[in-house]
Amino acid sequence: MPTILRTAICAVTLSLILLIPALATETVDVTISGETQKIHSFHENKITYVSYSELVELLGGTLDWEIVGHQVSYIEGVNRFDFVLGSPFFKLNNKTYNLTYPAIYRDGQLFLPIETFCPFLNGALPQKVTWSTETSGLRIDSQYFNVTDLTVSPKANGLLIEVLMTTSLPYEIYLTEGNWLNISITEARINSSRILSRRDPRTMYKLTTHQAAGSGQISMRLRRNVEKWSHKLAYDPPRIQISIADTRFAFDSADSQPQVGPDDKIDVIVIDPGHGGGDYGAIGPGGTREKDVVLDISRELARLIRKDKQFKVIMTRDRDKTMTLEQRADIANTAGADLFISVHANASTKSRVRGWNVFFLAPAKNDSARAVAQFENSVFLREQSTLEDHREVPDDELTDNPILTILNEMIMTEFQVESHDFAMMAAREFRRRLKIPARGVDQAGFFVLNMVFTPSVLIEAGFISNKKEERLLKSSKYQKQVAAALYDAIKKFKAKYEQKGG
Ligand SMILES: [Zn+2]
Repeated sequence: MPTILRTAICAVTLSLILLIPALATETVDVTISGETQKIHSFHENKITYVSYSELVELLGGTLDWEIVGHQVSYIEGVNRFDFVLGSPFFKLNNKTYNLTYPAIYRDGQLFLPIETFCPFLNGALPQKVTWSTETSGLRIDSQYFNVTDLTVSPKANGLLIEVLMTTSLPYEIYLTEGNWLNISITEARINSSRILSRRDPRTMYKLTTHQAAGSGQISMRLRRNVEKWSHKLAYDPPRIQISIADTRFAFDSADSQPQVGPDDKIDVIVIDPGHGGGDYGAIGPGGTREKDVVLDISRELARLIRKDKQFKVIMTRDRDKTMTLEQRADIANTAGADLFISVHANASTKSRVRGWNVFFLAPAKNDSARAVAQFENSVFLREQSTLEDHREVPDDELTDNPILTILNEMIMTEFQVESHDFAMMAAREFRRRLKIPARGVDQAGFFVLNMVFTPSVLIEAGFISNKKEERLLKSSKYQKQVAAALYDAIKKFKAKYEQKGG
């Protein structure tokens, strides 16, 4: 027997012996829908720990142990908890939270400090979960919520939205600016986590819930302007039915070709100069900033399109200004963009790397495409982490951030065919007009494109990290060439898709 293995076995035996005095002998009551059962617990420094392993079993789930990393995961519906033994930090859907007291491994089970953990469990489970310090009891009440679910079903002649309730409650529906449909329900106790998980990106941009003392509200920002609609209260089960008569909401699996833009015309072009304000983008060896050259190129492109009366052009920024990716996407979505073009300049640690790229949104197939997406997405991650943790994330933490990897795979592929088509058209024009090497068309997961509900591409007009291309990117001659190539591609895209649309 190898010495290492023998040592490991000795260590396990030793730890088992040491564990015996610390067995969890106390219990707490868990009342699920009126029925009470007991689970093991113990106190440590006056903190009540309960066996999460046993609680999960009562809830009908399982824990997933990864002993090597001392990690335990629990998945309930759309929610995923990740605990680390001995650590007060845990992740809920990849965001880190603090339990104040560590997760503890005892008697082969996972124990959690219930008082600080309960609010998180309550937020994630479909039932109402409350912990009472006085009775040392946990109460899980599936009867608590009376607004339980939401369904969104695109039909042949429009859209059907249903709000499910346990009893018929008085409600009011009203539309507000920006295609917001609001359902206000008296005496509602909304199962928010369940309802928010029903967001349907095909038909809505946003879905929110708001719980007040005597009422609750569900609001959705629809992708189309609502004109003809009606509502009624239906029964078995009680539910509010809202029908929106508009064939543009209709989706059919047989007709998977999505419509381009809000009408059959390709006329609203949104140009997105990357970065801006405090976000400089990449910086060239001569000090040229990506945010400045991409604004110049974008302005030139906007000028060309504006001269052509068949188009309307909108820029996400037309000056040096900090903008979140969400703000950029909002501008495109509100404008009903038919095409979204994000303009960037590339950078490499190798100064000799040169050439242009055109990217469309799809899971990255190679490391170099993934690296470009990671760099452009890092702004988004900084926004996220500053908002949530109120701290700046150092660069090295961003490069191998697991959230990136996960989000890179969560890609909306609805407009992939059209986006790829436009990318090919742009690449063709670049090949014709630009004298720098062609790195061609590639795919990767850019967050900004993921949030835009229209065909979209991201172009890297050259490498700012290369001295020669930095000079080109700064020159108005090259900027005009890039803009002219994109303008030609836009005209070809319009010709192709308007013909197709009839
Ligand atoms: Zn960039």
